[in-house]
Amino acid sequence: MKPSSSVRTEPLPPDFIEACTKAWGAEAEPRLLALNQPAVSSIRLHPQKRFSHSTLEKVPWHPEGRYLVQRPVFTLDPAFHAGAYYVQEASSMVLWEVINQLPKPKFAIDLAAAPGGKSTLLLDWMQEKGWLLANEPIPNRALALQDNLKKWGYSNSMQSRVYPEQLAIAIPESADLLLLDAPCSGEGMFRKDAFARQQWSFHLRTQCAKTQTSILPDAVKLIKPGGHLIYSTCTFNEHENLGHADLLFSLGMRPVQLNLSEDFGFKQLPNSMGWIAYPGEVKGEGFYVAVWKKEGTWVEEEMEVAPKSANSCPFSAYLPEHVQWNCMEWNSAWYAIRQPLPSFWSRIPGLQFLGICLGKSEKGRSIPDAHLAFISGCSAPRLSLDEVQVLPYLKGLAPVFKPQSEPWILAEFNGLGLGWLKTAGNRFNNAYPQPWRIRMDIPAKLSNPWL
Ligand code: SAM
Repeated sequence: MKPSSSVRTEPLPPDFIEACTKAWGAEAEPRLLALNQPAVSSIRLHPQKRFSHSTLEKVPWHPEGRYLVQRPVFTLDPAFHAGAYYVQEASSMVLWEVINQLPKPKFAIDLAAAPGGKSTLLLDWMQEKGWLLANEPIPNRALALQDNLKKWGYSNSMQSRVYPEQLAIAIPESADLLLLDAPCSGEGMFRKDAFARQQWSFHLRTQCAKTQTSILPDAVKLIKPGGHLIYSTCTFNEHENLGHADLLFSLGMRPVQLNLSEDFGFKQLPNSMGWIAYPGEVKGEGFYVAVWKKEGTWVEEEMEVAPKSANSCPFSAYLPEHVQWNCMEWNSAWYAIRQPLPSFWSRIPGLQFLGICLGKSEKGRSIPDAHLAFISGCSAPRLSLDEVQVLPYLKGLAPVFKPQSEPWILAEFNGLGLGWLKTAGNRFNNAYPQPWRIRMDIPAKLSNPWL
């Protein structure tokens, strides 16, 4: 176990120091000093997946946010693999306080969503009502996003993998709420990410501001009249934050006044231009957030029920019975949804999945998807792994157990679904997805990660 982090030894970029001294005046010195202090580590608990951990200090602005005393090796914690918590920077969890001041959406878009910290937070808030389209154009980041959405186990997310322009052309004025957590120069990450320090330059800052300027018109096009835009970054400079205000005004957006408790330490910018977490003033890293509303009157979206499939779904027996499910075949796989889809769903470009990905039927065999292992109340036959068995399972080894008659068994740890085992005669084959398998050596003796 290593301490959460140590004092930074790489110096802050001199141009950054100069720019901050100019922008922050007397407040520059303590803030720059704070940027050389260790970063704070934190997690956000899944509200429906309980697991044991010691009493951790609460993040004041999120009911499930917890600060870590030490940063454990997450790879060796089965609860991490079960999606029982998300490792998320504390300041950005303030999004919870922000969304609680907005109407709940029927259709929301997270436009730059990977790896999924804010999408999973939005999903917790939506409580499986309405749809969240999580979009990420960069392929390898889109994969990480998909893994995290599946592990979070909700039935109301869908994912696309396109640039905002393509979405704006295909489904304009579709979102009641759109989050743009923009790609940025990452000044707020200087304490936890040495690379963010190394790569920072005025040029990078200008490039990021240009990228944001190019994304924002498409973001606004995607929002319904009367709908909301949440714009956030993890950087401090004005160019990438309130510097976009004139553009947003010209696109028919109006700023929305947000209220945050003074006790949190965030600074409010004048004229409803948002809130910012400065180093040393908030227990977390740097974060900026503002909300804008699109002019016009909000019109209720017509929803349509998902097309039912002609074939019977081979996975329906695994779905929790207390919910009315609609199973559909799409793109050579089976999906379960529990509420109507928006009428435009089939026009969403680059759609990767929607609802719960149940699995595939191949050559007469049904192969369940990992997603199904993470939903609450999955009624597949289960096998409970103990502390000795669980990490070898996550490493891809096949455990030795009594043979079972059912073809697929859900491997769980402390009641939390992890993945699938395939029965093969008198043994099991490990069906845990290859890319998720633990590659590091498992220590002979493991300590409790939370102590
Ligand atoms: N919201 C994410 C979370 O909480 O986990 C973090 C998002 S990160 C700040 C910004 C994301 O924007 C990155 O995943 C990046 O790949 C993506 N991105 C880069 N260029 C983009 C573009 N032109 N349009 C949309 N997203 C872009």
